[in-house]
Amino acid sequence: MTKALGIAVVACLVPCILCAVEASNRYRSPRNPERKIRQSTELIVLHTTEAPAKSSLNKLSERGEAHFCVTEEGQIYRIVDRDREAFHAGRSMWNGKEDVDKFSIGIECVGYHDKPMPPAQIAAIRDLVAELKAMYRLGDSQVVCHSHVAYGAPNKWQKRNHRGRKRCGMLFAMPSVRAQLNLKTKPKLDRDVQARRLTVGDEYLSKVLYGNVDTMRQYYAVIPRKPAPKEEPRRGIFSWLGSNPKPAAKKTPAKPKTVAGTFKAPPQSVADLKAQGFKQVGVVTKDVTASKLVGARWNRADTYYTIRNKVIPGNTVNPSKIEIGMAIWLKK
Ligand SMILES: [Zn+2]
Repeated sequence: MTKALGIAVVACLVPCILCAVEASNRYRSPRNPERKIRQSTELIVLHTTEAPAKSSLNKLSERGEAHFCVTEEGQIYRIVDRDREAFHAGRSMWNGKEDVDKFSIGIECVGYHDKPMPPAQIAAIRDLVAELKAMYRLGDSQVVCHSHVAYGAPNKWQKRNHRGRKRCGMLFAMPSVRAQLNLKTKPKLDRDVQARRLTVGDEYLSKVLYGNVDTMRQYYAVIPRKPAPKEEPRRGIFSWLGSNPKPAAKKTPAKPKTVAGTFKAPPQSVADLKAQGFKQVGVVTKDVTASKLVGARWNRADTYYTIRNKVIPGNTVNPSKIEIGMAIWLKK
């Protein structure tokens, strides 16, 4: 290689490392000029918008509530410049330090804290996180979810300051999702709870953050390292909506590896349910409860409830919100 060529290659690599991820300025926040330059960056905080893309982007931009927003198609939007403070974490504490906005980057991901995200979105989050980690020299366990750092003030149910104010971004603490994001470690314990600065206000959340609860495993399939050619996952943004290739038979002894392309799409509509072989078994009425209809299967992941075009898996349905008119679907 000539010296000139060598310099050209290095010159090309440096900017690639710093700006490998493409992002749009379409929703850049008008709040930017009024936000302080952040003094340090110790965490990347992942959020879920709990709302569709358009309304989320408008709100985030208007209020300057994140540095980036990643849509389901994998489009990344810059909201607040990454060297400024964005107001994304609210009442928050990590390792005894309050106001996490002052030392973190916030990424909003369009979607819900307990629902899987499509591969294109996961890939975009993974690339953005990788770039920011490199930029700010952060380790895998410095990538946390909003629910790791948010805390609540005393209220009717909690006597003291407590962790568990929200479940925002909760899925990003689950091992199967972290594997998709190339994150090998996560925070091992909650130092604020350990030091009694906070109490545990949400036992289930605590199990997700620090235990091995992983309700996403079923969607991010584990397949053998070398799938047969016909089992190659389909590609493209929308392929996750279709049916999925079945994992290869169990005979392969090789250590399984998680592959992003094998995402198993949950049904999003009545049409999806029908296409995936689900049958409506009945409708909840004043006299017919869900457990009368489907017994112990009422809260299983492969039981679905539908109402007003919404599809709710049984394992996330809130029993107090099962209402009259909800249809229940099972796979025959
Ligand atoms: Zn959040």
